[in-house]
Amino acid sequence: MPLLMNEEHTFLYTYENIPPTVTLSSYTTGMEQLRVSSDNLNKVMINSILPQVIEPKIPIKELYEPDFFLLLRHLRILTWGPFYTTGAWYCQDCVNDDGLKGKLVFKDKQINLAEIPVIRPDNDEELKTKVILTPDDFIFLDATVDMHLNKCKDILLYDIKLPKDRQDLVPIAASISHVSGLDFVDIREVVDWLYNLSPADADTIKFAYKDAFSIGLSSKYNFTCPECGGRALCSVPVNDAYFRPSRSDLQEWKKLLRAQKTNVQSNKQ
Ligand SMILES: [Zn+2]
Repeated sequence: MPLLMNEEHTFLYTYENIPPTVTLSSYTTGMEQLRVSSDNLNKVMINSILPQVIEPKIPIKELYEPDFFLLLRHLRILTWGPFYTTGAWYCQDCVNDDGLKGKLVFKDKQINLAEIPVIRPDNDEELKTKVILTPDDFIFLDATVDMHLNKCKDILLYDIKLPKDRQDLVPIAASISHVSGLDFVDIREVVDWLYNLSPADADTIKFAYKDAFSIGLSSKYNFTCPECGGRALCSVPVNDAYFRPSRSDLQEWKKLLRAQKTNVQSNKQ
């Protein structure tokens, strides 16, 4: 099988059964067909595509969420190039219709995905994968709640079908490893438990996850506003659209690759 592009990929977290660095290859048209025909990007990546593009073979389901999204960005760049066009951005300095600063601009803006920052803890602090909340952290709840940073195997659980008002609780339910005095056998039971908590205590649990595990690929990209030269930003979620570059994104990539080739050739001479 011709592998058009491959590069080393180093994980953010350390794992027992996964080497720190692997080789990642771009994916094929066949795998793109799989992606397009799936209604769940994360699932098709974890179950079907990532196992085919990583050498050596690794247990993908053991990867932590931040490493999963960094892998997806790298795979997007290897397969489709680094350019991505957003249809809207927010500028803090553009003047809006009310004469105030701050405007949502509906125009295309091409960005380089490789420039989106990766959030890491300050001063080489160790990356946390667990958090424990005690009764002191809560207002009503008298229990100890053990939480973990979600892995790919937890992401696969996000797909369970529940009514909308419960569905949004699934990712946080997946991160709960144990609650003292309770024995959950299924994620639905954890969702039910959260559903019946006081919202103040449920928020404590959600914020604890956010505070401990806001690590990895940022969902925001900051740039200089092309309209006013001020501070603009756009949101870049890793979703199906992320893997759909525009024609002009592909043309930019072609130019970039040609320029790199020319550099390599002139270095050889
Ligand atoms: Zn502006």
